[in-house]
Amino acid sequence: VIINSHCHLDFLNAKDNGGIVPSIGKQNWGKASNYQNFALGIHPWQVENHNLKDLEVLEQKIQELLPIGVGEIGLDFCIKTNKNTQIKFFEKQLNLAQKYNLPVIIHGVKSCDEIIKILKNYNLKIQIHAFNGSPQQGQKLLDLGCYLSFGLYKKSIKLTNFIKKIPLDKILIETDEKPSKDLIIVADEIADLKQIPVADFVKICNQNIYQLFTNYKNV
Ligand SMILES: [Zn+2]
Repeated sequence: VIINSHCHLDFLNAKDNGGIVPSIGKQNWGKASNYQNFALGIHPWQVENHNLKDLEVLEQKIQELLPIGVGEIGLDFCIKTNKNTQIKFFEKQLNLAQKYNLPVIIHGVKSCDEIIKILKNYNLKIQIHAFNGSPQQGQKLLDLGCYLSFGLYKKSIKLTNFIKKIPLDKILIETDEKPSKDLIIVADEIADLKQIPVADFVKICNQNIYQLFTNYKNV
């Protein structure tokens, strides 16, 4: 079995229950919680549809529904939503993760430097999902202990070369907003870069999930 470290609700196979299902906001916290392994959070794209009161509701839901992580959260500087508002929601959710001792799932687009700066103030277990920053940013995130997660998107030569250097115990694979059945394509691609057999690579990725998401429940 290959564990999908990040697959959104609408892209799961009906039968496919073996993966981590992030939520994007209050509209799907309940739905996500129907899965064995889900995370609760407010995605940066959804920040404008939420207010500070919703963060209190999020905390109640964390207590009530017991997610395995806080996510998907983060910063996206390619969207119009005010940066400071995004940072406020991001930091408040990092505080919740710290309070409830949960790992976080982070979405970062054109915001890696800001994310690195903020994460330095926390002591958290972190998945950087769909990492697409520079090798320098990637190295800084690894230095902070982050796991870097890769999906089906096109990768630059720089990123490809960087992936070859990431320690195997810090890599995760995901499908995000692509069909979960395509996870094997990602596994093949990254195993090839790491020059190890895909079956071995998949085992390592699954181990990494257990290390990061310590409450992960095998289905
Ligand atoms: Zn996502």
